[in-house]
Amino acid sequence: MPNDTIYLDNNATTRVAPEVFEAMRPYFCERYGNPSSIHRFGGSVASEIEKARCAVADLIGAKYRNKDGNATEIVFTSCGTESDNTALQCAVRAACGKTKIITSAVEHPGINHYLDELARQNYEIVKIGVDGQGRLKMDDFRAALDGNTAVVSMMYANNETGTIFPVAELCRLAHEAGAYFHTDAVQAAGKIEIDVDRDQFDFLSISGHKLHAPKGVGVLFARRGIPFTPLILGGHQEKMRRGGTENVASIIALGKACQMAKAALPDEIRYLASLRDAFEAKLKASIPKIRINGDLEHRLPNTASVSFEDIEGESILMLLDQFGICASSGSACTTGSLEPSHVMRAMNIPYNAAHGTIRFSLSKYNTQAELDFTAEKLVPIIARLREISPYWGK
Ligand code: PLP
Repeated sequence: MPNDTIYLDNNATTRVAPEVFEAMRPYFCERYGNPSSIHRFGGSVASEIEKARCAVADLIGAKYRNKDGNATEIVFTSCGTESDNTALQCAVRAACGKTKIITSAVEHPGINHYLDELARQNYEIVKIGVDGQGRLKMDDFRAALDGNTAVVSMMYANNETGTIFPVAELCRLAHEAGAYFHTDAVQAAGKIEIDVDRDQFDFLSISGHKLHAPKGVGVLFARRGIPFTPLILGGHQEKMRRGGTENVASIIALGKACQMAKAALPDEIRYLASLRDAFEAKLKASIPKIRINGDLEHRLPNTASVSFEDIEGESILMLLDQFGICASSGSACTTGSLEPSHVMRAMNIPYNAAHGTIRFSLSKYNTQAELDFTAEKLVPIIARLREISPYWGK
């Protein structure tokens, strides 16, 4: 990372860990064989892929191994979005005849846009709302579930606020109604403990670049016994569940990243939560009229979603950028105008706060000094922007 950069946008993507980079390096110029080849040069790569598969399975508590010792419930994909799309396709096909899909109002586009397509195919999509803290409206969920529900897809943790949904309970209720359960764990994997066997999820999505592996690799956990409908048809790779020659180096990298995440998880959770909490406390003590968004009792340890009332998030980001500080806003550019994100809208965050929402998302590479510097710079930035804001003091 350049010395002049303070990277607080780790829910967007993460730095590849140096150890991860070293693990993948030999697979470009030295061990470049095709894992499907008969010769040893290629074949030996296949066994490394199987080790990576087991490392991913270990991170998420997927204990099943086939007779060769392989974690066959793990399918490598190209990204979290592909995993989400594939999970939904598998679930609706496996639940043949059922036409209802239940999800939340705050999912990632990787879910939402695939569901738009399923709606065009006459599936009924029910989006359960959230309260002001981003918590799922459980009564609405229970009321929506019925015997016609093919699949429930609910994110594990929200990318904007870090709010963690009660996925174990949601899965239990979905199963009671005879529906499959998928969770988009792209933001949760490597940040909090996941146990697919304990919680009995049917499908779970992961993305490499959110946990210090490279972009371009993802994982779909698919419980054995559920019929699998591939999204990408081709060769026999991934046991016919995802055609295309494997992204070997990135798969090896993801295995290493999962191993590292598992080993360090309890310490990292403590470290990140303490950095985040001290940062939020500093902001609250030095800047008036701010709010911390999300379920403060159940959220990712690395995520702080902060609304600075009466100013625009984009202006804050631009001024932070002058100090090399990278974060992101809770707005999305829709047809040329800045609209609060669908997550902020679903939470009913007042317009004047939603517009000034900044997501600071941390990683193990951040330091107390970086966060102190950021908090220090924010004080005059917010004061200056409020001075020129037409809404401030109104
Ligand atoms: N799901 C969630 C919750 C995400 O935050 C993201 C990425 O931001 C994705 C899915 C998509 O992952 P990818 O970028 O690997 O497609």
